[in-house]
Amino acid sequence: MENRIIIQKIGLKVTRANLLVLEILKKSPSPLSAKNIWQKTKKEVNLVSIYRILDKFKKAKIIYEDSIDSARPEKIYHLSPSHHHHLICQKCHKIFCTPCQVKIKTPKNFTIIRHQIQIIGLCDKCQV
Ligand SMILES: [Zn+2]
Ligand SMILES: [Zn+2]
Ligand SMILES: [Zn+2]
Repeated sequence: MENRIIIQKIGLKVTRANLLVLEILKKSPSPLSAKNIWQKTKKEVNLVSIYRILDKFKKAKIIYEDSIDSARPEKIYHLSPSHHHHLICQKCHKIFCTPCQVKIKTPKNFTIIRHQIQIIGLCDKCQV
């Protein structure tokens, strides 16, 4: 789908900033932080606007937000509507997506509202 159509569909104005952020997310194979996106816009869009746009995209459920490291409160985003998890390489900080396979045994009448998983490892290039 064309970017402008996606933006219209979720009820936003077709602005240069909205289009740019969407395009960057579309082109990226791995999730990005707001700062990563900001750098990729070549600082054409300010960081506050990027946070605002990401928030709108999140509410429209076209992007997925996750935090990968409790030591780094920065959130990461990518174009995917569904819940999944991320693996991060400790050395090069590359991020990989993985489907959710969580099956937790809960006490009786305990309802899980959300969960978060931190998976830290070494990618194939960093294992040498
Ligand atoms: Zn690595
Ligand atoms: Zn992901
Ligand atoms: Zn999960």
